[in-house]
Amino acid sequence: MKKKIAIIGAGLAGLTFANLIKKFSEHEFTLYEKEESLSLDEGYGIQLSVNGVKILNKIGFKKVNTEKFFHPKGVDFYSISNKKICDLDLNHFNTQENKYTTLKRSTLIEFLKDDIYTQHLRFGKRIKEVSKLKGKVLIKFDDNTNDLVDLVVVADGIFSNTRFFFEKKKNEPKFKKAIAIRTFLKTNSKIDINDERISLMMGKKCHLVIYPINKKKELNLVCIVRVKKYDPNNIKSSIDKVINQNSNLKNVFDGNLKYWPLYSTPKILPSSHDKVFYIGDAFNGFIPTLAQGAVQSLESANELFNLIKEENADIQNSYFKQRLERAEIIKKRSNFNFFVFHFSSSIMQTLRNFIIKFLVKKKGFLDSYLGSVYKNK
Ligand SMILES: Cc1cc2nc3c(=O)[nH]c(=O)nc-3n(C[C@H](O)[C@H](O)[C@H](O)COP(=O)(O)OP(=O)(O)OC[C@H]3O[C@@H](n4cnc5c(N)ncnc54)[C@H](O)[C@@H]3O)c2cc1C
Repeated sequence: MKKKIAIIGAGLAGLTFANLIKKFSEHEFTLYEKEESLSLDEGYGIQLSVNGVKILNKIGFKKVNTEKFFHPKGVDFYSISNKKICDLDLNHFNTQENKYTTLKRSTLIEFLKDDIYTQHLRFGKRIKEVSKLKGKVLIKFDDNTNDLVDLVVVADGIFSNTRFFFEKKKNEPKFKKAIAIRTFLKTNSKIDINDERISLMMGKKCHLVIYPINKKKELNLVCIVRVKKYDPNNIKSSIDKVINQNSNLKNVFDGNLKYWPLYSTPKILPSSHDKVFYIGDAFNGFIPTLAQGAVQSLESANELFNLIKEENADIQNSYFKQRLERAEIIKKRSNFNFFVFHFSSSIMQTLRNFIIKFLVKKKGFLDSYLGSVYKNK
């Protein structure tokens, strides 16, 4: 039966869900975004493992100009002193159709908004009130407009404000005592890395990830540093913690830096409302140490869409069960990486490097640790 759906939030999750509905169903939908425009922050890179690329290909990602993304063939592990430890072959997980892809977030948003923008996207929309009406949900916005819908798909990110309107239980994101600093590099900035691959440098209480985001091989750098408190006025002290471990890294922090505190959602909670679904970071926010946040946004959108399409009799429970199972795997792996990447003791670092070197060549390990994440249906 044809449904009317309100999607709240035009990030990766909301836009992906909107594309699936638009391309493969007859349901009516409107996408409500609180900002006045889409955030097309140029330099921010995104890694998409094959489980995400598969979903994007379903909605026509192949039409994106191939100059605008890159397929890194592997991950190189380095110590913070730029000494190579070992490498991981990403081809192991690729198929002919779906390959590990890196690109600018803006490229992805441009692609996702293409079919949605004029007809279905409404900007400057903030929810004021929600209520039940004749088995439907009435959403009132603060500009005095409203929408009466069959389903609400909440995709408004990790700090989901929409949750407060529907849920009694609080699940406020927790500061992970770390910050992310990112910048965009035109060259490899005199560090010894292969600019066609993903480079992961592990240091004491910090790590850096550098990867190409297009065929010009412009590079995205993300540096995660542990801090006790987030102080936006003192980012320099966090950068110093990294540079003190390798002065050559000074160059990578020369450009325009953006930084933000890292949060994750403490508990994975079901929706208490049978017509309301959470996708993307609004379902669960992950720390970026497995590079799965965006991909999980796509996956959650795809899972929910499939259940709606199949007219599943118990969508809410089926969706939560599927999503919980996936989110728990990703959460465990992300937390484990966060712990292992940042060892302070040199004995632990040596031991870790030895173990990683051994494991990255073991097919069984790759299949269970990463394969189970990357090879979702
Ligand atoms: C440092 C860092 C690096 C990362 N790197 C990667 C990576 O390499 N690969 C990867 O897969 N993921 C990565 N991620 C994670 C990824 O960016 C996020 O998980 C993903 O963008 C979440 O998408 P989303 O659509 O759920 O939420 P968001 O992108 O947060 O979008 C939410 C949207 O909702 C809007 N909104 C908010 N509140 C309201 C409201 N009340 N009403 C209406 N609209 C609202 C917002 O304006 C926004 O447009 C990284 C994250 C960080 C912090």
